[in-house]
Amino acid sequence: MHESSTSSLDRIRAEQLARLRARLPGVLRGSPFWRERLHDVTGWDDFERLPLTTKSDLVADQQANPPFGTILTAPAERYLRLHQTSGSSGARPIRWLDDQESWTWWRRTWAEHVYRAAGVTADDRVFLAFSFGPFIGFWSAFGGAEELGALVISGGAMSTEQRVRTMVDLGATVVCCTPTYALRMAEVAREIGVDLPGSALRVAVHAGEPGASIPATRDTIEAALGVRCFDHTGMTELGPTGVSCTQRDGVHLIESEFIFEEVDGELVATNLGRWGSPLVRYRTGDRARLSREPCSCGSPFVKMVGGLQGRMDDMFTVRGVNLYPSQVEDIVRRHAAVVEFVIEHRRVRQMDEVTLLIECADGTSTLERLAADLRQALGVRIDCREVPPGTLPRAELKAQRLRRVVE
Ligand SMILES: [Zn+2]
Repeated sequence: MHESSTSSLDRIRAEQLARLRARLPGVLRGSPFWRERLHDVTGWDDFERLPLTTKSDLVADQQANPPFGTILTAPAERYLRLHQTSGSSGARPIRWLDDQESWTWWRRTWAEHVYRAAGVTADDRVFLAFSFGPFIGFWSAFGGAEELGALVISGGAMSTEQRVRTMVDLGATVVCCTPTYALRMAEVAREIGVDLPGSALRVAVHAGEPGASIPATRDTIEAALGVRCFDHTGMTELGPTGVSCTQRDGVHLIESEFIFEEVDGELVATNLGRWGSPLVRYRTGDRARLSREPCSCGSPFVKMVGGLQGRMDDMFTVRGVNLYPSQVEDIVRRHAAVVEFVIEHRRVRQMDEVTLLIECADGTSTLERLAADLRQALGVRIDCREVPPGTLPRAELKAQRLRRVVE
């Protein structure tokens, strides 16, 4: 271990503990939810005895105490923004309030960490290819770009074609969107004859799906848009947690604003700047592998190797082999003819059946090669079936690569 990285870790840990100790008493005074669960902390051993909290704890609290639950540390009048989770995993959406201090923290964390890691500056023109519904990612990306002093352009209430033309016409240099939607914009740009790689675009900041950390998906987007892709991880209820490393092998977690732990392969996080609605030892439901190896990019923060590995509950089984959608995606995206895909997982009479549904530009030859590649890389045979063009969903928010069907 390098002495410098040991001392920088000590500094990070000391700062984390100091921030937690300064604000935890206020959390215990203000929030019935946390008062019931937590105790005051003076050292790391106290912290490690605090219980883990899950999303279902939050959902149950909001159901029992509508509309906002009892997690708030101040009266509801003090808050100025309401957002809610996408509910994309089939769960009931959670409502989340931010007060002025918490919202400033969101904006600053985006500006100082997410945009900075992607090399975005006040000189950039940032286009947000989002609908601007109640999902917090849209607004925090917008607020962070404002904080940075960049020119920020909303792509709300636009068709994909309008978004593509607007980016080119206004000379946008940065686009924020999901990986899936980046590929959708590239598809539309080709259809209408707009040259995105020849435009001013140079950076894409992605979130919502692991795609920007999946090498084959990242390569496809970078070629199709003429950009360099950066991954960003975050959660509505938690905050902006990470940004991709310039070494391109993972995501650094922002330890100046959070405490991160890996518990049984799951990422657990405590935020240190969102004191109006804080989360302490929150089980994110995301699979992660954390590494403290010193990184040549110079970041002192822990690395989540390979980015998010998917959701804990996204695993599926093919002939006894456990797989995650991101493993399949990395193989699928190496085939340029594949336009979209969905993994359909059926449970038929207690048996797992998995079929890859594919929209493809050139038909059977790609399907055969893809099936062979999957068999070689994953060690199991997965049936591949072609579906008509335009029939699979193009998600703006979070693509559901895994579709479960119970018969
Ligand atoms: Zn790094």
